[in-house]
Amino acid sequence: MPDMNSEHKNPPRRVNGYTATFGDKALERDYFVHEYGRLGRYLRFFLSAGALLYFMFLVPDYLVFGAEPRFLFLFALRALFVFVSLVTLLALKKPANLPVMHRWITGYLALNCLNFIAVLTLYEKGNPYIQGFSVIMVILGIFLVPNRWVLSVTIAVAVIISYTALLVTSPGRLTGFEIAAIITYLVLALVLGAFSMLRGEYSKRLQYLTTRDLERMTVTDALTGVFNRKKFDDELSRWIMIAYRYHGPFSLVLIDIDNFKKINDTHGHRAGDAVLTGIAMLVSTQIREIDLFARWGGEEFALLLPQTGRVQAAVLADRIRAVIEKHQFPRIGRVTCSFGITEYLPEDTAESLFIRVDGLLYTAKSNGKNCVVSG
Ligand code: GH3
Ligand code: MG
Ligand code: MG
Repeated sequence: MPDMNSEHKNPPRRVNGYTATFGDKALERDYFVHEYGRLGRYLRFFLSAGALLYFMFLVPDYLVFGAEPRFLFLFALRALFVFVSLVTLLALKKPANLPVMHRWITGYLALNCLNFIAVLTLYEKGNPYIQGFSVIMVILGIFLVPNRWVLSVTIAVAVIISYTALLVTSPGRLTGFEIAAIITYLVLALVLGAFSMLRGEYSKRLQYLTTRDLERMTVTDALTGVFNRKKFDDELSRWIMIAYRYHGPFSLVLIDIDNFKKINDTHGHRAGDAVLTGIAMLVSTQIREIDLFARWGGEEFALLLPQTGRVQAAVLADRIRAVIEKHQFPRIGRVTCSFGITEYLPEDTAESLFIRVDGLLYTAKSNGKNCVVSG
């Protein structure tokens, strides 16, 4: 059974409050893929708008430097920024795996921040306060790009250190007090940006967990933990469509516990529930990942076997039947099940399939139960 028990195998699903990531790496990967699916368009817009804006600063560059060689340098740097953004845009178009995406985004940020510092270096006589504002804008921009929080903070710190180095190594521009004031405001911008990103990333992950749990609940049977009837109906319709279009076989198996009423009457309803859960577990261990197993009704289960003909399905069903028959249920002893099996035929609907498989299950019951009947 696909994820039936994964919740128990996973470590506690905690979000680390200091890094705003899931302790569980697989969960973090799932989260990022989900989040990136939502954020992809925003990220592409952000990258395009950022590149365009940066390029448009060529106008003030020209007003300040005219046709000096320095203007050509600035042109080259701004064109490089656009190029790096374009390459990143293309690379992120198809979602890659998580570490690769983090590397791309971090590389994009690091290269472009370096580019920005190089532009500031060319403006050595520029107004340091105005430049300070632009550094604040860059810091806030860094925290808007979806990335690992720690990486965003690292890049923002590197930008502040580089700009400080620039101020300190340009003698006579500012007094020590003024430099300290600018750095203080940059650090404050960093703290605000980092804190708001941390809070955002943390609560988005909590929300992701809640949504995932709710989504899981809508397809799960509360007692047995296997899929519910709604999920089975949806998947059956999907497989009917696939089989109709591509002529691939699939089989439907209906499983009904024998004399279940008697189990309830003799041992109580709770013991009956334990048998239902136990049988769900036994069947789950016998099927493939792509098979779909669900609780169809009270003590009936349904099994959809993609790419499986009637004969193969009967072999599998008989193996499941034997496993259940051999199992010793605590206090109750042995329990058996009857099976009806049918294969999808062209023009079948979900209803016609179920009418047929129900009839075959009825025959299995009439034949003395604990057997498999296919047709
Ligand atoms: P047969 O061998 O012909 O299938 O007989 P049966 O007694 O298994 O079949 P029947 O359909 O007469 O009885 C099914 C019983 O399953 C009736 C109902 O009380 C019981 N049942 C349905 N849902 C649950 C449940 O969630 N828990 C428990 N403990 N019992 C349930
Ligand atoms: Mg029944
Ligand atoms: Mg029954």
